[in-house]
Amino acid sequence: MSEGAALIPRHAFLLTDLEGAAGVTHWRQTRTGGGPEQEAARKLLSGEVNAAIASMREADPTIRVSVWDGHGTGGLDWALLSGADHVYRHDHPGSFPAVFEAATREPDPIDAVFFIGQHAMEGTGGNLAHTYSSTRVREHLLNGVAIGEFGTRALHAWAVNIPTVFFSGDDIACREAQELMPGLVAVEVKRSISVTEAECLTHEAACAAIAAGVARVMNGEVHEEGVTPRFQPDGPFEYREIKRAKWGLVPRPNRRHTGDDLADVLKRI
Ligand SMILES: [Zn+2]
Repeated sequence: MSEGAALIPRHAFLLTDLEGAAGVTHWRQTRTGGGPEQEAARKLLSGEVNAAIASMREADPTIRVSVWDGHGTGGLDWALLSGADHVYRHDHPGSFPAVFEAATREPDPIDAVFFIGQHAMEGTGGNLAHTYSSTRVREHLLNGVAIGEFGTRALHAWAVNIPTVFFSGDDIACREAQELMPGLVAVEVKRSISVTEAECLTHEAACAAIAAGVARVMNGEVHEEGVTPRFQPDGPFEYREIKRAKWGLVPRPNRRHTGDDLADVLKRI
């Protein structure tokens, strides 16, 4: 994966989720009402994000860093965050497109996406795997192919010419990311045993692994060709969300969006 231009960010966009941080392995740490366990989980993710930012700044003291807290009920402890220029909250399902469009606007547009703490898609057996809703969604399909949160957002970014260069999470989630973009830097901070169990690196080791992975990006190891998606559907595009009754909850109706503009279709999810 060495063809094409090296992608060295000048303004990084960090997309964070709570379920893929080392030490976060059970739903009770991630859901509303998690109490002290969720607070502890937020500290772990915040440490991983700080390690990524510190590594970026070590390589390039003038880099710009924007962070989007992508976990539905808040995955970051904002008081602990260090080194970011901007931080965005996730307040409702439409937050990502709104935040992402703001971040891509002139005069200071982002030029690379980093996923930190991301989980695998529903049905893969990954630790805390789900697709958007951990209780109501069976799968999301883009032109008939199942894609998870990573795929949806990385393809959305690619559709507006922003490459995804870095990913951290469990081994199953890393594999999912590298299947779509083999040349991104993927850092395994835990190995999935089951949906609610994983063999984790210590927090210290996870932070060190993330810092080392980010340094590889900053050294120019990621190239355009390596992060061009292996799955590029042709238009017109159709995105379907298939619900299911999980844990006895009554599913809401399935949703479907179609159109000729990929970013426009993906942003309606
Ligand atoms: Zn989450």
